[in-house]
Amino acid sequence: MTTCYQLYIGGAWRDATGGATFPAINPVNQQAWADLPQASAEDVDAAVSAAREAFDGGWKDTNGLTRATLMQRLAELLEYDAERMAQLETTDNGKVIRETRVQMRFAARNYRYFAGWADKLQGDSIPLDRPELVDFTTREPRGVAALITSWNSPMAILANKLAPALAAGCTVVIKPSEMASVTTLAFAELCERAGFPAGVINVVTGDSSVGAALTGHPGVDLISFTGGTATGKAISRVAAEHLTPVTLELGGKSANIVFSDADLKQALTGVVAGIFAAAGQTCIAGSRLLVQRDIYDQVVAEVCERAQAIRVGDPRDESTEMGPVATKAQHRRVLDFINRARTQGATLITGGGEPQGDLYTRGYFVEPTVFSDVEPDSELAQEEVFGPVLAIIPFETEEQAIAIANGTAYGLVAGLWTQNLARAHRVARQLQVGGVWVNTYRTNAAQAPFGGVKASGSGRERGLHALDEYLEIKNLMIDLSNEARDPFAIRT
Ligand code: NAD
Repeated sequence: MTTCYQLYIGGAWRDATGGATFPAINPVNQQAWADLPQASAEDVDAAVSAAREAFDGGWKDTNGLTRATLMQRLAELLEYDAERMAQLETTDNGKVIRETRVQMRFAARNYRYFAGWADKLQGDSIPLDRPELVDFTTREPRGVAALITSWNSPMAILANKLAPALAAGCTVVIKPSEMASVTTLAFAELCERAGFPAGVINVVTGDSSVGAALTGHPGVDLISFTGGTATGKAISRVAAEHLTPVTLELGGKSANIVFSDADLKQALTGVVAGIFAAAGQTCIAGSRLLVQRDIYDQVVAEVCERAQAIRVGDPRDESTEMGPVATKAQHRRVLDFINRARTQGATLITGGGEPQGDLYTRGYFVEPTVFSDVEPDSELAQEEVFGPVLAIIPFETEEQAIAIANGTAYGLVAGLWTQNLARAHRVARQLQVGGVWVNTYRTNAAQAPFGGVKASGSGRERGLHALDEYLEIKNLMIDLSNEARDPFAIRT
């Protein structure tokens, strides 16, 4: 039975203008299981207007404690509903239930963390050269935020944006990916139940035309986007027209670097987490494994063994470790990458196709795939696959490892595996990325900032720095002197 969802605009549920819909497809069996509204430009306009009215009509002036209380209530509702929400997200994008459960709780943790900041948005008191001048800053919400998310982790990615936006006092229009929109609409029901005033949180669903209408809307004061680098560039171009500030969380080709002094047991777990968790469909995938030459053969053999032992199956099954990839297009894309890599000199050591058996015939499954001896400048080492495909590259020296790691357009994260503290600091400093993990990988915290450099984006999510994306600083300078001054010379 398919469930029908509606848009959430100005505190009301409604069909898209014109009544167009599109199906949500379960990647395990290709069944349509929900019906979603395809918003029109008119709906986007209504959502932006509702957000503007809510902002000007009181939300921007609500005190921090009121916002914090609502956010804590929202976190509580999400925690209470975590299992149902996890099941919905797993059905929508095929991510294993053991991860979506954790992600729902982590999303709630983010709402709680930022609720803690909502009543602490203080400015600075700044001493100036002249004692008669008093100077201080206030931090004010930017206004209406457009929050655009990708399909791989809709609730976790939304929390990265919505939690600081609400804490800052912004109102929002959310546009989830057309490939996985169900949890965002189900979550809007929780926002309604938490008691957020009408128009503070709005959700419009549909294809890229909805995102384009939203990012090009003159009523939007800032854009926070998570998705592909090409889309990020397109959004930046449109945003430039209105000089709308943009936060971009884009793709990656992250390096997991294993030195010969690493604790190999720990490192191998990090390698598996880096590329096979979520079937490699994460921006932070450690899709390049750089291994020091003297342990190279051993690591290649052990990674191969670990990859072959992964339980691939129905993501709703508790014991499944890797589900399907999320969409038909993604399935084709990943298999095409593998086929091209086979012809480009890399050695396929395991996987390389679709798993065989009844379980897999209707879903978008890909085998955990490992290539060794990958050339650092080959397509497989340079392009984001967004699937369970690992490229292993040998290196001899620290300098070589750094050069290879920095040698892509991307700069999201990196993993370092070493027991040598000085080496860890030395290498971490030289990596051109937004975050480095040492002796861990794919470990997140609400308090720690996350984001990329180079083609992986700009701006930060999570942690205190995320608030800055949603706040403007206003400076107030007051002259206490009542003195006459020369009107033709600037005062300093
Ligand atoms: P995508 O860029 O295709 O789509 C993302 C969102 O943008 C969707 O909601 C889509 O409808 C919308 N969109 C598409 N074209 C648009 C346009 N012209 N204007 C406005 N909106 C538009 O990305 P995807 O395929 O959904 O997600 C995969 C990508 O996301 C990967 O590259 C991955 O690395 C990246 N990602 C990054 C992070 C991060 O935090 N850095 C996290 C997860 C995913």
